[in-house]
Amino acid sequence: MTGVILCAAGRGVRAGFAENKVLREVNGLPVLCYSLSAFAPYADELLVACAPEDETRIARLLAPYPNARTVLGGSTRFESVYRALRALTSDMVLVHDAARPFVTPKTIEDCIACVKAYGSAVCALPLSDTVAEVLDGNIVSVPPREGFAAVQTPQGFYKNKLLGAYERARADGRVFTDESGVYAAYSEPPRLFLGDRNNKKLTYPEDFAPAERVGFGVDTHAFSEEGDHITLCGVRIPSARGLKAHSDGDVAVHALMDALLSAAGLRDIGYYFPDTDERFAGADSMRLLEEVVGKLREAGLRAKNVSLSVLAERPRLSPYIGEMKERISAALGVPASFVGIAAGTNEKLGYVGEGKGITCFATVLLTNG
Ligand code: MG
Repeated sequence: MTGVILCAAGRGVRAGFAENKVLREVNGLPVLCYSLSAFAPYADELLVACAPEDETRIARLLAPYPNARTVLGGSTRFESVYRALRALTSDMVLVHDAARPFVTPKTIEDCIACVKAYGSAVCALPLSDTVAEVLDGNIVSVPPREGFAAVQTPQGFYKNKLLGAYERARADGRVFTDESGVYAAYSEPPRLFLGDRNNKKLTYPEDFAPAERVGFGVDTHAFSEEGDHITLCGVRIPSARGLKAHSDGDVAVHALMDALLSAAGLRDIGYYFPDTDERFAGADSMRLLEEVVGKLREAGLRAKNVSLSVLAERPRLSPYIGEMKERISAALGVPASFVGIAAGTNEKLGYVGEGKGITCFATVLLTNG
């Protein structure tokens, strides 16, 4: 039987967060969920060591995993793992930092194989930086780095041997920062296996990069026989003919709104602003864009940059690009230098080239940061 202990009782002090860092989201999922789903296929029982104040939230994340349960941790990682070990019934145990969400199946399988072959397994990497011994801000010696390894998790052991080592360390009043230290001091030298550079521990605020989402939108409007202008990005542009539309026919803003909604995983503009609804007859599309920006805000998202490409045989758009950029910049709250608008013809090919209509493509990047 294989038991897994996920250490999730830390406070995230170094990251400077008000909450436990394993409950913070990375790409829309709490950090803890990544290691839960990574280890679940290998675990007969899965214990998550957590602080009492986090237990309710963490228990909720465990709901999809029938073999998982919480165990209350102590004031140190050493004490938390000890308590979890005592609660475990499996003969083999893998211990992993929940703050290392990017552990791969290969690393977990290598860990299990190493325990079976050598009795213990410690995930480690060769050092790439020089390591120095430091005293009062000065380097006192630089040992050859070949003699050192950067130790990560998972670490695997037979439970009774690891628990025995913990009991003896506690009897001596000693505390260790991970299992490998306890095992080396009170059992035998644990076996290393080669880890993975992506299996890093999220420690500092910059390790929690905000989630980004890309979105794409496209819209086409046909020219009508009437009118004396078109509207693009809220800018009135003189034109021999207007565009057929239920609203103001702002094909650029329509493509942009669809890109924004799509990036947020929402429905399209036809869903929110149906052209069968009289409220939107002749609507100012810049007003609708404000509503879309409001929907994104409710979802905790904002645009980071925007790229628009307008295909039109005529009218000539280049004199208006600057003003169009300013309008989009103001509506989305992004600097004008983060709004790109290209305007081109279609070399007389197809409906655009024949002057029958205008098409616009929009790409956006959203962030929750
Ligand atoms: Mg449209």
